[in-house]
Amino acid sequence: MKNIIVLSLIVIVSLPLSSCTSKKPAETVEKPKNIILLIGDGMGVTQVYAGLTANRGSLNLEKCNHVGFSKTYSASDYITDSGAGGTALSTGVKTYNGAIGVNKDTISQKTILEYAEDYGLATGLISTSAITHATPASFIAHQASRNNYEAIAADFLNTDIDVFIGGGKNHFDAREDGRMLTDELKAKGYRVYFNLDSVTGGNNEKLCILTAAEHNPPQPERGDMLSKATVMALQKLSDNKKGFFIMIEGSQIDWGGHANHTEYITSEMIDFDKAIGKALDFAEKDGNTLVIITADHETGGMAITGGNFKEGRVEAGYVTTNHSGVMVPVFSYGPGAENFTGIFENTDIFNNMMKELGFDK
Ligand code: MG
Ligand code: ZN
Repeated sequence: MKNIIVLSLIVIVSLPLSSCTSKKPAETVEKPKNIILLIGDGMGVTQVYAGLTANRGSLNLEKCNHVGFSKTYSASDYITDSGAGGTALSTGVKTYNGAIGVNKDTISQKTILEYAEDYGLATGLISTSAITHATPASFIAHQASRNNYEAIAADFLNTDIDVFIGGGKNHFDAREDGRMLTDELKAKGYRVYFNLDSVTGGNNEKLCILTAAEHNPPQPERGDMLSKATVMALQKLSDNKKGFFIMIEGSQIDWGGHANHTEYITSEMIDFDKAIGKALDFAEKDGNTLVIITADHETGGMAITGGNFKEGRVEAGYVTTNHSGVMVPVFSYGPGAENFTGIFENTDIFNNMMKELGFDK
């Protein structure tokens, strides 16, 4: 009884206190030094919940205490593709479907990764598809079409990206123009590897790790490539005292959606969530890292029609083998996360990241 009385007193006392501190605390909020942006390609709320159910009732991303929704339409279409979706997130500009780091007049737009480089931060990209595929490409390349894979690979040479990990070796080394881009990367000071397990030391050198000729295989064949790459990259990038920006993509949630294949979606979702867990662990220890987890669009018009947490069983229906127009979730964690709540344009994710890192356009 005593305890209950004490508690109610606290409530009474705290009410007038909170009502007189109603001014916005915005100016006192701390800024992050690092940003980890994780993109689940094709990851709508349904894909998240399907993964959560298949994982028997929980996901690492539930640690995020801030949630918002992003409007994904592009400049050309109500339903975006990953080129326009990625470019909106990377440059803050809505463009036409198929564009990579260019606006609707095909003029190059500076990406958040390029701003980070200019401000002295370390930078990274990781993907479970080819590193030249639309999502990672839109953070580093500037091409009128997402299909210009060899030109996209060559654009990596125009930057000083510190670490990139993904498939797409053929776009670097089996090219129509005969250039061997991995040799050019070595000449620029990169260590080049074709297998995550063969990577050794070399603290001051940049890393290029091309883990597949084209795309990486789906789960379970790919194993823990994404989590391993995430840990490796974060360890390397955190050496930079000024901070870092990295984009990490779970690419194949989208491909499971296109295939209307529920197990493909849930296994890729759980794999992506493992990498999210590694990112959140890093952020929790570091204290200066903002983690943002979102999607470029939803794929499949997926709906959950039945399931069982104990069995990890998910039943789902689909209304399309393509992307849908629905808003996608934005989960965030760490300093600045409170600015990623509500309903906003996908381009505002870029604008907010710029603000959080203190970058001027
Ligand atoms: Mg993608
Ligand atoms: Zn797709």
